[in-house]
Amino acid sequence: MKLHEYQSKQIFAQHGIPIPHGRVAAIADEVRAIAEELGGKVVVKSQVLVGGRGKAGGIRLAKTPEDAAGLAAKILGMEIKGLPVRKVLVDEAVNIATEIYLGITNDRTSRCPVMIASSEGGVDIEEVARTDPKKIVRKRIDALLGWRDYQGRDLASAIELPREHWRSFMSIARGLYETYIECDATLAEINPLVITKEGHLLALDGKMVIDDNALYRHPEIAEMRDIDEEEPEERQARKFGLSYVKLDGDIGCLVNGAGLAMATMDVIKLHGGEPANFLDIGGGASAEKVREALSIILLDSNVKVVLINIFGGITRCDEVARGILEALKKHKAKLPIVVRLVGTNDEEGRKLLAKADMMTAKSLAEAAQMAAELVKEKAPA
Ligand code: GDP
Ligand code: MN
Repeated sequence: MKLHEYQSKQIFAQHGIPIPHGRVAAIADEVRAIAEELGGKVVVKSQVLVGGRGKAGGIRLAKTPEDAAGLAAKILGMEIKGLPVRKVLVDEAVNIATEIYLGITNDRTSRCPVMIASSEGGVDIEEVARTDPKKIVRKRIDALLGWRDYQGRDLASAIELPREHWRSFMSIARGLYETYIECDATLAEINPLVITKEGHLLALDGKMVIDDNALYRHPEIAEMRDIDEEEPEERQARKFGLSYVKLDGDIGCLVNGAGLAMATMDVIKLHGGEPANFLDIGGGASAEKVREALSIILLDSNVKVVLINIFGGITRCDEVARGILEALKKHKAKLPIVVRLVGTNDEEGRKLLAKADMMTAKSLAEAAQMAAELVKEKAPA
């Protein structure tokens, strides 16, 4: 689950990380009042769950409360990368001297958290990673030892931070580590962490992603979920207990079991296709669950072909078939569908599907190949 900037920064502040004064608002008049409280010069920041708000015009500096209200009215009417802006954060404006990057995430290769820092913080950190990777330094964190202050010093030195800021930087790094661990985050990021012209370090932006599987331990964070800001497909999937992740490809996948779903995506890729999503309907899925799962796929306009891969154990293939038929009736989709259905009650399942116009495959490899070829046929030459 992603947190908004204002939510992330509030959590950072609880762990001793300095943040600018500010408050969130949903209407322009409120913004004017907050700007007056903060002394007039403020920055009005759209709160949407995507990066690159600055470049999209969603972050604007205002010189007066009047100016702030005007900019807020504009920003509150915007859509950024398809997401409507419903709230803005009004922060006191800061005189920036330097922008640094500081973040922690899970490093799956080394199987531990890693703290990442760069002297080239700001809006183009991905570009820095590509063009000047030496400017990005990493410190792996031993799970048993936790974050050590000497690692903070090492990072400060590696990014050539002026000596007078080391103490503050180390305290912020420690705070970020504690935030990350205590919230069960998979990402905690400050970009930019700025040095102000007055010589203070301040977390100007904040981003956190919380591990969904740990949310039950953090009811106060679970409550922060902003349903309006999620992909409608993902919201629908959660409602029906489906594990769904949208991807960039064009082959929609409906699979039972996370491992099989991963394998299915791999085999699609092996045959030159691109999966449009990860979707695990789970074990023993009902027809209703299958119907909703397939509906999510059919409503995705990127999907050109659907691949259904079911290995029935607890899951009954006839139940799956019924769900598929219900979804097709509901959506009248004209998309080609390739099905591989084996296991419990598979014959019954196939009989049900025989009435619908679908392609069946005997193996996963065959199904993936068929799906990949169907996409190529549909693509303009
Ligand atoms: P993002 O574009 O979504 O990452 O949003 P950020 O919160 O990181 O803001 C983008 C950029 O806006 C920052 O890198 C700063 O350069 C600038 N910015 C944000 N807040 C202030 C501020 O208070 N004063 C000034 N001068 N610039 C700011
Ligand atoms: Mn940022």
